[in-house]
Amino acid sequence: MARIVMKFGGTSVADLDRIRTVAGRVKREVEAGHEVAVVVSAMAGVTNGLVRWCQELSPLHDAREYDTVVATGEQVTSGLLAIALQAVGVEARSWQGWQVPVRTDGAHGKARVEAIEGEELVRRMGVGQVPVMAGFQGIGPLGRVTTLGRGGSDLSAVALAAAVKADRCDIYTDVDGIYTTDPRIVPRARKLERISYEEMLELASVGAKVLQTRSVELAMKQRVRVQVLSSFEDKPGSLVVDEDEFVEQPLVSGIAYSRDDAKVTLRRVPDRPGIAASVFDALAGANVNVDMIVQNVGADGSTDMTFTVGKADLARAEDVLGRVRDELGYEALLADPEVAKISVVGIGMRSHTGVANTMFRALAEKGINIQVISTSEIKVSVLVSADYTELAVRALHTAYGLDGPAG
Ligand code: ADP
Ligand code: ASP
Ligand code: MG
Repeated sequence: MARIVMKFGGTSVADLDRIRTVAGRVKREVEAGHEVAVVVSAMAGVTNGLVRWCQELSPLHDAREYDTVVATGEQVTSGLLAIALQAVGVEARSWQGWQVPVRTDGAHGKARVEAIEGEELVRRMGVGQVPVMAGFQGIGPLGRVTTLGRGGSDLSAVALAAAVKADRCDIYTDVDGIYTTDPRIVPRARKLERISYEEMLELASVGAKVLQTRSVELAMKQRVRVQVLSSFEDKPGSLVVDEDEFVEQPLVSGIAYSRDDAKVTLRRVPDRPGIAASVFDALAGANVNVDMIVQNVGADGSTDMTFTVGKADLARAEDVLGRVRDELGYEALLADPEVAKISVVGIGMRSHTGVANTMFRALAEKGINIQVISTSEIKVSVLVSADYTELAVRALHTAYGLDGPAG
C-alpha cells in the first residue's frame, strides 16, 4: 500500500466527461489499496478568462482581489470531482486552500507556500476518504486568499505530497510525459523516461510548462518522487530523479521556449554607480521579477539597459519606471512584448564546451537575429523575435541531435 498524491491539470478536468474519467482513475488507485489525495486545476481556459476580466477592469488591479477572482476556478473543479467520486462510490470531500490550510506568504498573485498543515488530511486518508484539494490557492498571513502563480497547481501537489509524506506525486496532464521539447511544436520530440531534478528545474524555469518551476524546486529539496503521465492513456510516464541515477549525462537534454516575457529597454541612462540598483530596486518594490539583463556603455557616457520581465508584469514595470524617470534620468523607455526566449539545457554542459556556438550557428543559418543572451552552468538562453519561436526550437532540436524517428 502506498500513499499517493494525484494531480490533474486543466485539460484533464475540462468538462464533466473528463471529470468522470478522472474519478475512475482515482477509484482504481483507491481499490488497489492506496491512500490517495487529489489536487485539481481549474477547467482548461477558465483561469485565463478570470485573469482577462481583472485586466479589462483595470490593468493595475489590486493583486489581493485578483487572487479572490482567479482562485475560484479550482473551487469549482474540487467540488465537481468530489461529487463525481461520491457518485462512483468513493468517499471524498473537497478542500479549499484556506480550509487545509495551505499557508503562504503575502505575495499575492505569486505567493510562496510556507507550510501545509496536513494532519487532518492524513487522518481522513487513513479512514478511506479521498481529500480533493483545490490547487493553485492558499491563505496569506492576513487571512486572505492567495494564489501561487500560473501553473501553481503543480506546486500545490508537490507541497501536499511533501506535507503528507506521500510515496509518489503523480502529475496527470495532456501529454504522456516529459519530452526533449514541447511535442506540440516539434512532432519528432522524444519522450524522456527519466530526467534529473536539476535539468527539469532549468527547463521549467525557462518555459517548459509541463511542470511549474517552483514545484520542481520543492520536489528537489524535499526529495518528492514526481512522475508526469497522461490522464487520457495508460502509458508509462516520465520520472524526475536524482542526477546520480544517470550513468552518462546528456550534453543537451532539452529545448524550451517562452513567450511569456517582454523586453524593456531604458535608452540613454546616465552611466554612474547606483543606477542599476535604483532601476531594479524600483522593480522589486513593485513585485516585478527581472530575468535577462544586458547593458551597453556608449561613447558619450550613457548606457542602454535592456532586460526582460514577465509579460503580465509589463504594465506595472512601465508604470513604476515611469515614476522614477526624473530620478534616473533616462531618455526613453521602449517596451517590446513580441519576443520569445529560447533555451537549451543539459547537465553535460558543465564539462563540455561548444554548446553555445552550436546554438548561435544553428540560429544564424535560419537567419534568426539574437537580441539578448544569458547563460548559466547548464543552460544557454537567447531572446529572439516571437515570429521565429517555432523555427528556432525546431532548428535547435535538430542541431543537437535530439530528433526522434519521423512520423
Ligand atoms: P496542465 O494543465 O495539465 O497543468 P500544462 O499545459 O500546464 O498542463 O502543461 C502541459 C503542456 O506542456 C503540454 O501540453 C505541452 O504542450 C507543454 N510542454 C512544454 N514543454 C514540454 C516538454 N518538454 N515535455 C512535455 N510537454 C511540454
Ligand atoms: N489554474 C491555474 C492556471 O491556469 C493553475 C494551474 O492550472 O496549475 O494557472
Ligand atoms: Mg500546468
